[in-house]
Amino acid sequence: MTVQERPRTDVPVIPETAPFDEDQRAWLNGFFAGLLSLDSAAASTVVANGMLPPEASNAIAGDGDDGEDPWHDPAMPISERMELSEGRPVRRKLYAAMAQQDCGQCGYLCESYAEALVSGEEGRQNLCVPGGKETTRMLKKLMEEAPDVAPSAEADTTPAAPAADVVPGYAREAPVEAKFVSATRITGASSEKDTRHVVFDLNGTDLDYVPGDSFGVYVTNEPSLVDDVIAAIDAPADFPIAGKTLRQSLIEDYDLGVPPDQLFELMGYIVGGDRRQKAKALAKGEDIAGDAETFDVLKTLQDLGPARPDPEAFLECLEPLQPRLYSISSSPAATPGELHLTVDTVRYEIEGRKRIGVASTFLAERITPGQSMKVYVQKAHGFALPEKDETPIIMVGPGTGVAPFRSFLWHRASTATKGKSWLFFGHQREASDFFYRDELEKLTADGVLTNLTTAWSRDGDKKVYVQDRMRENAAEIWEWFEAGSHFYICGDAKRMAKDVETALIEIAKSQGGKSDAEAGAFIKDLKASGRYQTDV
Ligand code: NAP
Repeated sequence: MTVQERPRTDVPVIPETAPFDEDQRAWLNGFFAGLLSLDSAAASTVVANGMLPPEASNAIAGDGDDGEDPWHDPAMPISERMELSEGRPVRRKLYAAMAQQDCGQCGYLCESYAEALVSGEEGRQNLCVPGGKETTRMLKKLMEEAPDVAPSAEADTTPAAPAADVVPGYAREAPVEAKFVSATRITGASSEKDTRHVVFDLNGTDLDYVPGDSFGVYVTNEPSLVDDVIAAIDAPADFPIAGKTLRQSLIEDYDLGVPPDQLFELMGYIVGGDRRQKAKALAKGEDIAGDAETFDVLKTLQDLGPARPDPEAFLECLEPLQPRLYSISSSPAATPGELHLTVDTVRYEIEGRKRIGVASTFLAERITPGQSMKVYVQKAHGFALPEKDETPIIMVGPGTGVAPFRSFLWHRASTATKGKSWLFFGHQREASDFFYRDELEKLTADGVLTNLTTAWSRDGDKKVYVQDRMRENAAEIWEWFEAGSHFYICGDAKRMAKDVETALIEIAKSQGGKSDAEAGAFIKDLKASGRYQTDV
């Protein structure tokens, strides 16, 4: 179209029937004509039958985006995050629907994943692992409400092919093989936790990493669970689908954890009576019996069945099995050619049936030393040691949250870094849960770890957490901040990270003489300048 062919601003392109008042119509006509440079036919089509999508009208009214992201808080519930994104364009709402952890598990950051969905570059709406079903559900709803904004609004579960510029071993789409060496239990026999120190041999790979990076692992499902699922749909295990047997596909490719809404929908079509009603309600996210959380794929088939869905249709209703990410707990400077993780083996019971964490039990039980598995390094975004060696660091890492700090400390030990280091480590009981104790005590004796402060939550009459220890050490913490210390938190995003931040605000007030507003601004500034980093 040539410039001359553009509609003049006084030529109406919005039909009289479109649901706008005179002012809005005049403004929209001008906008379409002058700014979007659309020809009049195209512009009329957009608003045909008065169907201008809400997001498009947002964009027209100046996009509705001020660039702020007040919802970017992993501790905030999704309902609140969505409220804060009201009136903004769909890409911002999609961003607010993500879990806000910027964990990289989806291959993006929360914001860039949202943008990739809107641009159509990414079709999969189910990649936000920490956001789980509530995020997937919200993404689906938002994309359905804004079809014109998203060229590939249809959920596409096909894994993306690696982009041409992706380096093998550094993206979830381009994993490489690395050798599993061991997964040694590091919690005592009496511990309620089975935490493993996991070692990989990187020799033969080109993988390299720095402290702060994470490691993605591709794992498989427990065969006995797969057999139970196959029995529940009464299908032959060797049923062929796309070059694999049903059993192989279920072991390697599909998530058997939280059932997707599509599976409830499928059950709602093929069973009858109360079970049909229950399946339909669950598919809509209604939790009438208060037991929605207890459903996994097997329970869905068993409780809402018996049903014999076609195996292919059944697989189509499942989510793909995604890689899991763990913080790397080793330093290449200290243990070249090796990579370590610190992983809690997740096992629990619901209604008498054993439930497991697929990746953690794979590493603890289903892979044998010497076997290779698909892995990749996920480079950290904003979680790294300070650039200057002499900068002090304060690290708060209860439980397996200590993982990246073990990496930091070994790195500092191996590179003879002079900066002071302070670790706040907490766990349930000193006798059984003080993993890496010998190492940490040695690092302290060697002067690498200046202060080691512990909090045992279940050793005394009342709970003591890392943030209680921070309050007890408020004056010294403040001195470290005044000396330019960086502050790091790793662990549970929902409660611990929030509580630790609250403690730090209190310290800024009590030791730094700051008002509420000044203490809030102090934390905000620390974050903006990279002195306050989280891996949650
Ligand atoms: P955990 O059992 O969640 O807790 C460790 C300690 O923290 C316990 O003493 C616990 O006390 C205490 N705690 C509970 N609530 C707290 C709060 N609000 N503030 C401070 N302390 C609190 O430890 P975990 O199972 O090892 O989990 C650690 C977390 O780190 C997980 O959320 C995990 O996803 C995350 N993470 C792990 C990695 C990794 O690479 N493995 C990396 C990043 C993040 P009580 O239980 O006695 O109340």
